[in-house]
Amino acid sequence: MTPSIDNRKCYAVIGNPTAHSRSPFIHEHFGRQTGIALRYGKINAPMDQFPAHALRFFSEGGGGLNVTVPFKEQACVLAAAGLSERAQLAGAVNTLWMKDGLLHGCNTDGLGLLDDLTRCGVTLTEKRILLVGAGGAAKGVIAPLLLAGCQRLHIVNRGPQRALDLLSLLSGQKPEFANRLSAGGLDQADGSWDIVINATSSSLGRHPPSLPPHVYAGALAYDLMYSAQPTPFMHQALAYGAQATSDGLGMLVAQAAASFALWHGVQPETEPVLAALRQQLIDDA
Ligand code: NDP
Repeated sequence: MTPSIDNRKCYAVIGNPTAHSRSPFIHEHFGRQTGIALRYGKINAPMDQFPAHALRFFSEGGGGLNVTVPFKEQACVLAAAGLSERAQLAGAVNTLWMKDGLLHGCNTDGLGLLDDLTRCGVTLTEKRILLVGAGGAAKGVIAPLLLAGCQRLHIVNRGPQRALDLLSLLSGQKPEFANRLSAGGLDQADGSWDIVINATSSSLGRHPPSLPPHVYAGALAYDLMYSAQPTPFMHQALAYGAQATSDGLGMLVAQAAASFALWHGVQPETEPVLAALRQQLIDDA
């Protein structure tokens, strides 16, 4: 997309693929709500050309980029000189902007999750959390959950080594996390949990992760994935005694609101956009 086609500042999501992205809908809605004139497009960058496309966007006057799969780690490298602490802890960037000639990067995924858990009526203090998955999304939410005061966070992953690697990375970065963090394989998810978070992409394949059934008893089961219908993970959790379930649509809107606030200095309201997006998902199904 061409950033300077008219006098509205231009923003975009960059990824591969980007066809599914709801970010233009969300940010244009925020713009109308706050009276900020903007254009928001999609940049589908070839797999080996993320840095060139991102830098060209800013050299042509672009205001900000959201970064999605598979470029969040590369964005962290590109903005290495201007990373927020959130981005450093996540090792991944989903929000880029240029200021005084320096490329800045932040990760708002964790903020989005915390905000949406609050919307669901959950406080994190003293909560025992089972986090399923150890990919990019999991990396973005671990430190924010610990900083929000959860009592214990256990990371389990289909490939256990990836969870163990995350554990040692974070314990190295923040030694004060070590006594509240643990990790293992899906078969080591045993325990009594207040919140079970699905940060795997298993729902894309229409199957929930293979967890011991009793992990859901009495818990809030939160799937980062979202869809018009409850996800396979949400179905499984309810069948095995979860107290409540949620998909990640609220997180998506809230992480976008945090990006919007970084770029424009204004915090938009999430509820109207969430309602409109939920309706759009249903209409599209
Ligand atoms: P990654 O590709 O980085 O990681 C995928 C993760 O899913 C890995 O832990 C992988 O395990 C696991 N996995 C994949 N298939 C299965 C399966 N069948 N059973 C068990 N585990 C499985 O993806 P992301 O971390 O970027 O994204 C994960 C999910 O989070 C996606 O659904 C994405 O849409 C969602 N998301 C939602 C956001 C929101 O705002 N709501 C924001 C960001 C992501 P292994 O290592 O063993 O392969």
